Formats: sequence, structure tokens, C-alpha cells
Amino acid sequence: MSPVTSVPLNDGRSIPQIGYGVFKVDAAVTADVTGQALAAGYRHIDTAKIYGNEEGVGQALRDSGVARDEVFVTTKLWDDAHAHDDAIAACEASLERLGLEQIDLYLIHWATPSQGQYVEAWKALIELRERGLVRSIGVSNFPLPQLEEIIEATGEVPAVHQIELHPYFPQLELREAHARHGIVTESWGPLGQGKSDLLENAVITEIASAHEATPAQVVLAWHLSHGIVALPKSVTPSRIVENLAAAELVLSAEEIAAIDSLDRGEAGRGGTDPATK
Ligand code: NAD
Repeated sequence: MSPVTSVPLNDGRSIPQIGYGVFKVDAAVTADVTGQALAAGYRHIDTAKIYGNEEGVGQALRDSGVARDEVFVTTKLWDDAHAHDDAIAACEASLERLGLEQIDLYLIHWATPSQGQYVEAWKALIELRERGLVRSIGVSNFPLPQLEEIIEATGEVPAVHQIELHPYFPQLELREAHARHGIVTESWGPLGQGKSDLLENAVITEIASAHEATPAQVVLAWHLSHGIVALPKSVTPSRIVENLAAAELVLSAEEIAAIDSLDRGEAGRGGTDPATK
């Protein structure tokens, strides 16, 4: 039994709270490491067309012996396919590469406001769900105005919003909007992507020592404590196992509050600001 709990989505389905992320995982090793993740007990995989490794994810799923309906698979629509027909074709191509009949969650990867086609892309995702090619639909990297705009334009609320989120950049404004709309928050870069000293921060390391856990496990447990879905990435076998085991770590209210206080505001952002794309 996986220790990872699932959280409900606003469309009646549910999503495991830890997913195995494969950003920057070389296509040649994706089937192997994703297979290790499935063997370790992960039941949620997060890929994207632009990662170039959907085939490896599909291969791992087929080789794993795990029943298709036990694994939650997410992939994403890239910026070059926001126009209606391109979005439909892109989804069909992802299904082909994954070797699947249905994607569990399909996300618009970036709003890319400068292109101005995110409403059209969102309408295409609604159609893909109605046609049964995808089960749930959501977005990633949407600034709040664009998130509100697609909801206003269609009356359809994304099931998920996947955003950069970690203790140095906790995204309080978006999380508050998600709570208002019933959107599940997913964290990309949940461990800070190695771009800062997050895993060496004394607040984190002291909590880790107290629980005989690792700093990465403490950070992941913090995400879970807030009801957030976290997508840690690692290709190191011991870390693949370690990150999943974070689901068994329970932090106290004081520990959660101490990690909350690490918020660095905009200075904590490590990646691209979606508003500038
Ligand atoms: P991450 O925060 O998961 O950091 C990954 C890095 O942290 C690893 O390369 C490794 O160096 C380190 N690490 C992993 N486990 C560790 C451990 N137990 N102890 C110490 N260090 C450890 O960052 P990420 O890979 O960028 O993000 C995770 C996933 O989120 C991606 O794989 C992808 O699925 C998704 N993502 C989505 C977007 C988006 O635009 N939607 C952007 C980036 C990432």
C-alpha cells in the first residue's frame, strides 16, 4: 500500500499527493528511472511534451505490471500549440507517444500572455475532456488575471494549477485564489530545484534532525501539510525512495509555521515569472 494519500479534484476524481516529476530526465533513462519510481510505489507521473520523454514514461507504465487505472499520468500542452486545431493534434500526439488511450490530467504548460491564445487553448482542453481523450484538465504557470479570465470566459474551473512553489516562494496569493475556486495547487520545483540553499536552511535541517528525516523529506511534508500536490524529481535511486517516504512524515503546527516563515516573496522565485512570457 502506498503511504501517499490522494486529494479530491473539483471534477469528482482524485490525485495522489506526491507525483514523480521527469523534467530534465534524459529520454534514454526515462523508462528506467520511471520504472524505479513505480516499483517504489509512486502512482502519479508528471511529464510534458516539451520534456521529450513521454515515450519513456509510456514504456515504464507498460513494463511495470501496474494496472493502468492505478497510475495518474499528467502531460502538458506546449506554447506552440495553443490554437484550437493544434491543441487537439498535440494531445493526440502525446497520447500516441505515451501509448495511452486517455491522459489523466492535461495541462496548458504556460499561459504565455504575450501570445494571447490561452482562452482558445482552454476551450480546446474542455473539448478534449468532453471527447474522452483526457479525464481532468488544468493549467500551469497562469498569472492570477489570466486564471480568472479563462474561468470567466468558459465557466469551467481548472481542476489543478501547477506552479513554482516551495518554502522560499509559497505563492500565498494564488493559493488563496485556488481555495476560493476549488482548484488543487501543484508545486513544481518543490525542493527549490537546487537553485538556493533551501535544503541547507537551519530551520529545515533542525526539523529534519528532530524527526531523523532528511531536509528534502521535511520540505515535501510541508507541501503535503498544506494540501498541496508535490512533484519531486530525482534520478538517484535512494532519493526516489526517500522522496516518496516523505508521505509518512507528520510535522507539528509549530514546525509548519516555522517553515511558512521562510517566505522570501518575489525574491524567492527561482524560475520564469509567467506574467513575463
Ligand atoms: P525539484 O525541486 O524537484 O528539484 C529537483 C532536484 O532536487 C534534483 O535534480 C536533485 O538535484 C534535487 N533532489 C531531488 N531529491 C532530492 C533529495 N531527496 N535530497 C536532495 N536533493 C534532492 O525541481 P524540478 O525537477 O524542476 O521540479 C519537479 C517537477 O516539477 C519536474 O520534474 C516537472 O515534472 C515539474 N516541473 C514543471 C514545470 C512547469 O513549468 N509546469 C517547471 C519545472 C518543473
